[in-house]
Amino acid sequence: MPPEKMKFFGVRNFGDIPQLSRLAPQTIRDMQVVAEVLPFRANNYVVDQLIDWDRVPDDPIFQLTFPQRGMLREDLFQRMERQLARSSDRAEIDAMAHAIRLELNPHPAGQKTANVPVLDGEPVPGLQHKYRETALIFPSSGQTCHAYCTFCFRWPQFVGMEDLKFATDESRRFLTYIRMHREITDVLITGGDPMIMSAR
Ligand code: SF4
Repeated sequence: MPPEKMKFFGVRNFGDIPQLSRLAPQTIRDMQVVAEVLPFRANNYVVDQLIDWDRVPDDPIFQLTFPQRGMLREDLFQRMERQLARSSDRAEIDAMAHAIRLELNPHPAGQKTANVPVLDGEPVPGLQHKYRETALIFPSSGQTCHAYCTFCFRWPQFVGMEDLKFATDESRRFLTYIRMHREITDVLITGGDPMIMSAR
């Protein structure tokens, strides 16, 4: 049997997931509200193979993947809920989502600067070098995941907050830096999920 084609679900099409008909309409509505603010991505493997729908909402993979009301502060949840009730205008909803995201502390201190090494007087994009033998690479093509975890603290990079992305650039200066630092014996490739990067 040929492998099943990967299908992704997000805020715009999660209504296509047949198993959701088992849930109360209010639960689905809550998901919609949260997913307008925080990134939501699942796929048919997670939905069909990993979640035990007889145990939803307690199923741990469901909890890990699907948005839940408690992920947003109640006042922020209600703001988006009111927005969706007021208008279906995409620009208005996106503007509200952006305003709410800015209240969620998407700029943790030092996220883009801590442990970033310097080469020729300039920071090396997409590389962190904290421990002597270990370097972390954040490849630009590994900035997404096959599904998003509900606890993810890297969520701003998944909702288009580009200024918060931390990734290697075309100059590939991280390679030069690693070659020059012979003490580095371990390289961790992280992201997002680098396991879904193209091999080419
Ligand atoms: S970056 Fe890590 S925690 Fe965040 S969604 Fe991807 S796998 Fe999950």
